[in-house]
Amino acid sequence: MELKINNISKTYPNGVTALSQVSLCIPNGMYGLLGPNGAGKSTLMRILATLQDPSEGTIHLGDIDMLNDKDEVRKTLGYLPQEFGLYPKATAENLLDYFAVLKGFSQKKARREVVESLLKKVNLWDARRQKLGGFSGGMRQRFGIAVALLGNPKLLIVDEPTAGLDPTERVRFLNLLSELGENSVVLLSTHIVEDVSELCTNMAIINKGEILLETQPLAAINAL
Ligand code: ADP
Ligand code: ADP
Repeated sequence: MELKINNISKTYPNGVTALSQVSLCIPNGMYGLLGPNGAGKSTLMRILATLQDPSEGTIHLGDIDMLNDKDEVRKTLGYLPQEFGLYPKATAENLLDYFAVLKGFSQKKARREVVESLLKKVNLWDARRQKLGGFSGGMRQRFGIAVALLGNPKLLIVDEPTAGLDPTERVRFLNLLSELGENSVVLLSTHIVEDVSELCTNMAIINKGEILLETQPLAAINAL
């Protein structure tokens, strides 16, 4: 599957232009969107997550017209927002089960299986009965990925996931992401160069709402 972003612009009601004619062609695998604070990354991520409409442009995921067929794309979309909402009193197991219900897993047995396999995948199975309020930043991000992976999304959007993580947690989180990129489009936004250079096969640099460069991280580093 391929994600095709064509001439997306976004001007907020207050007149700020966050995105200006952004076009990107994103294949399966890990794709990095690198840019400083205020570049427009979160705006683009929210648009791709169907939470916000652009002022103009089109987006296609394979055959799906994402802006006109939001229900269809939501079936196959996973999103880890920059600030993952906290439910401090819920346990990891119960909250993931709850999100699985929302995602359409209606049968208890199937749900239990998917919850178990996802918590194991993100290395939180041993912590399943702990409350999220006691989780470290890294544990919270890994839990957020488990939620985002419910239903095997073809498009996974991860917004600045390593910003608050210490080095050990960061490496652990990035390793987890790197296992996911095989059969889906994984789009990672970050202001940290190493997140992209260590992980992504393709990348774009965004600044002030404009794409400055599309490249392959290894090629870019070799050119230095
Ligand atoms: P980021 O760390 O991605 O730059 P921000 O701190 O800019 O995020 O934004 C956090 C939240 O505040 C977002 O929901 C964003 O939509 C909103 N926001 C950011 N800038 C403005 C603004 N100038 N006016 C209104 N809302 C804003
Ligand atoms: P990034 O994620 O790269 O930090 P954002 O997409 O959060 O960038 O922000 C891009 C620009 O749009 C910034 O100037 C920010 O202040 C502005 N912005 C973001 N959200 C809003 C909003 N809801 N209303 C107005 N301006 C916003």
